[in-house]
Amino acid sequence: MQTVLPTQPITGHNWVAGRPLVGESGSLKIHTPYNGKLLGEVSIPSVQQMGEAIDIAHQAFLGWSQVPIKERSKVLYQFREILLRDQDAITHLKSAECGKTFSEAKAGLMKGVEVLDFALSLQNLDLGGKLEVSRGVSCEYRREALGVCANITPFNFPAMVPMWTIPIVLALGNSYVWKPSDRTPLTSLRIAEALKEAGLPEGVMTILHGGAQTVNTIIDHPRVKAIGFVGSTRVAQAVYQRGTALGKRVLALGGAKNHIVLLPDANPDLAGPGISDSFTGCAGQRCMAASVLLAVGGVDRHIDKIKERAESLKLGSDMGAIITRNQVEFLSGAIERAEKAGAKVVLDGRRAKAPVGMEGGHWIGPTILDHVTEGSEAAVHELFGPILSIVRCKDLSQALKIERSSDYGNACSVFTSSGPLAERVAREATAGMVGVNVGVPVPREPFSFGGINASKYGHGDITGHHSLDFWTNLKKITVKWEKQDDSNWMS
Ligand code: NAD
Repeated sequence: MQTVLPTQPITGHNWVAGRPLVGESGSLKIHTPYNGKLLGEVSIPSVQQMGEAIDIAHQAFLGWSQVPIKERSKVLYQFREILLRDQDAITHLKSAECGKTFSEAKAGLMKGVEVLDFALSLQNLDLGGKLEVSRGVSCEYRREALGVCANITPFNFPAMVPMWTIPIVLALGNSYVWKPSDRTPLTSLRIAEALKEAGLPEGVMTILHGGAQTVNTIIDHPRVKAIGFVGSTRVAQAVYQRGTALGKRVLALGGAKNHIVLLPDANPDLAGPGISDSFTGCAGQRCMAASVLLAVGGVDRHIDKIKERAESLKLGSDMGAIITRNQVEFLSGAIERAEKAGAKVVLDGRRAKAPVGMEGGHWIGPTILDHVTEGSEAAVHELFGPILSIVRCKDLSQALKIERSSDYGNACSVFTSSGPLAERVAREATAGMVGVNVGVPVPREPFSFGGINASKYGHGDITGHHSLDFWTNLKKITVKWEKQDDSNWMS
């Protein structure tokens, strides 16, 4: 299916106490990357409106946290049904605002539904635990909601990244304050409406639009107990520092520069599409995209397959658009700079043509740079576009040395037919998520998502079992009812 752009601009507002709130501090205009035209706008709240909204979210938390998890899960189950019912409408909107193809946008929503399935399982699986630790004395774990949890999300996944946290945070009894990307804020309103229809009490979901000022106001509000952030490393660091300086828990996921190690014994039928799809999927605008190919030894036949597939992609249907015109210009400049630094452009996305009727959009085609110099911009910096930088390596040790020298640590994959070599990469790579013959090694639920180094600030992961401690307090209760004759040192 193709993305259908709305015929009229959409006007959206903040979401407070279960309904839209017109912000008093101006508005953000949103343009679709497909043709560059105005898609809509959302109003920005004043500092006072934000303060009041967060107070409402706190009041809502006091009630929601007392609702038993099985009842909270009923609301989330209804939410799931509504998302599935409205999946096409939501997908068209999110695709229009972030430039993804329809199928990529749909896949992002479905991954969000998978997290929802995980959150729904907590009512049956996350039982805490109780043990008689001494005669007549028991200890018990009890998970308690924190309060208002804030989440700040990036442009590139307007539904999936928020859906990493919305179901889990709500299932655990917290209220949720969401600051969507200032470039893709419209999808959030569909999600808020779906939650309302599902029966979520007023105030448990709050949406506040804007940029740095909105984020800082949310972080500083005394009722906000925990902050989840996903975005660039520069902002992740700033959010982490601001939040932790106030004594709050912060989990801030940052940018990435992901490596793929390609060994000569790799199956070309796995490596060709696996690597091509990894760097071109979402037009390279995802934190798990392949960015650097560490080509070990004689792998030219594999590279031919990667190129063959990448150059067959049609813009608009197989590969989406880039978020802004500025970013297209930055990517073109990066290709030019790589060429000047000695790289060979074996596939040049600057020559790609925009789809018919979309000439005003933000387009660049898949680009492959070969013989990229170690340490150069294309080898080291996050470019965030459909560009694969090939660094030629004489052996696996050199490839691993390059991978380990990266500031980032989100993903690393290896393509090989050898178990021991794959195991060596899994052991030695400094990345939070490793793939073997998998180009985009995103763990599926219930396995957690999260990188290391400059790809993540804070402890724990954002999804799966390892997210549960972040969004709750773990209370330990020790109980004795009677004096025991048969006492020991603990009694
Ligand atoms: P960004 O850092 O520009 O924005 C992220 C969020 O922070 C947005 O909501 C934005 O409005 C807000 N923001 C922007 N500037 C701010 C400031 N000075 N102070 C406070 N808040 C501010 O990121 P982006 O361009 O929207 O997204 C792309 C980046 O996100 C890439 O670096 C990508 O790798 C990263 N990303 C990481 C993951 C991950 O899981 N590690 C996932 C998706 C995207």
